[in-house]
Amino acid sequence: MLDIFQKCRDFKTAKFLIDRGIYPYFKEIESAQGPEVVLDGRKFIMVGSNNYLGLADDPRMKAAASEAVLKYGTGCAGSRFLNGNTIYHKNLEKKLAKFKHKEAALIFATGYQMNLGVVSCLVGRDDVAVVDKLDHASILDGIKLSSGEMKRYRHNDINDLDRVLSGIGPDKGKIVIVDGVFSMEGDICNLPEVVRVAKKHSARIIVDDAHGSGVLGKNGHGTCEHFNLHDEVDLVVGTCSKSFASVGGFVAGSADVIHYIQNVSRSLIFSAALPLSCVSTISTALDIIEAEPQRRDNLWRLTNKLKTGLNTMGYDTGKSQTPILPVIIGEDIACFTMWKMLYEAGLFTTPVVSPAVPPGQALIRVVLMATHTDQHVDKILEVFEHCGTKLGIIKAGSKKTTAVH
Ligand code: PMP
Repeated sequence: MLDIFQKCRDFKTAKFLIDRGIYPYFKEIESAQGPEVVLDGRKFIMVGSNNYLGLADDPRMKAAASEAVLKYGTGCAGSRFLNGNTIYHKNLEKKLAKFKHKEAALIFATGYQMNLGVVSCLVGRDDVAVVDKLDHASILDGIKLSSGEMKRYRHNDINDLDRVLSGIGPDKGKIVIVDGVFSMEGDICNLPEVVRVAKKHSARIIVDDAHGSGVLGKNGHGTCEHFNLHDEVDLVVGTCSKSFASVGGFVAGSADVIHYIQNVSRSLIFSAALPLSCVSTISTALDIIEAEPQRRDNLWRLTNKLKTGLNTMGYDTGKSQTPILPVIIGEDIACFTMWKMLYEAGLFTTPVVSPAVPPGQALIRVVLMATHTDQHVDKILEVFEHCGTKLGIIKAGSKKTTAVH
């Protein structure tokens, strides 16, 4: 008889890396998520976080969370649909709607749950969702949960998007779903062209701005602000686990669409409300983002310095246009070996291997936060130069530069 657990005993991928001492995942951090972290009692420079603005360890954010716990307790004890909804969720939604230049917004427990719930309730039996090949897994999973169809187009390739949309019959509803900033590659979606082509085919548009919110645009409002396309995009979705330094997901759009999602979305209705400690920290993060543009400026300045330094050494950082810098290493094993060397030299980084990236394109995802210093960047560059030369990924003395802006 087939034992359903046999696949667990057969699963050797992680054990192969663990046995060789190069397994980089589920590392156990013992400190706050700051520019420096502690593991095994040792200090590391954190170069692989999504805490872009450095707010996760900010005293005002911690105070907001603590005050909310003291006042309202630790959890909402149920779904917002029934007993878990509060006026504080509603107030935060008003603030998020304003931040994203939309009529209304709705907050979920995580960004992953938000995409599951939003996409699956919008894409019906007669609809087709068209996605960029590098869109986030939660978007793809949302479509799988829907009763509609998924079609993919080549990454950021507008002619291919046009081709895919042209192949969908007039009897079908169409929606194009894109990441604003691609989470592993760090490039920005060609939104003006996506909008033009989607409109030509009467398709609706969702932008997942998980990595653009707080980072892109004059006021940090994200990818739509960066391109001045607030009104052309139907729904903006995102997460509160990155620049907003908490946990949660949101969707912003017109009041009628948000009303529908609120009353139909299964991952909202059948799951508990976001705790008020998170609601309160997200609200505080939005205030800080509006009031302190210098955080964003520092993040971009340090990123430029790091990117220029890495490129000058000969590292390939792909098509990155944002603080996400993919340092392309090559084969998976070479990437894990590089990760280990960086780790031993005091850098916490995150390797990304196939199938998340094409085979032979394994990369180290390097990301700074606004609260890093020039000394941190100097140290990171020194370690990358030493490890890359030793492993033969870069040659000493090679010269090549491309700046972020
Ligand atoms: N969308 C994108 C583009 C993401 O990168 C992520 C998280 N990596 C999510 C959604 C999910 O967000 P969360 O961590 O809040 O579940």
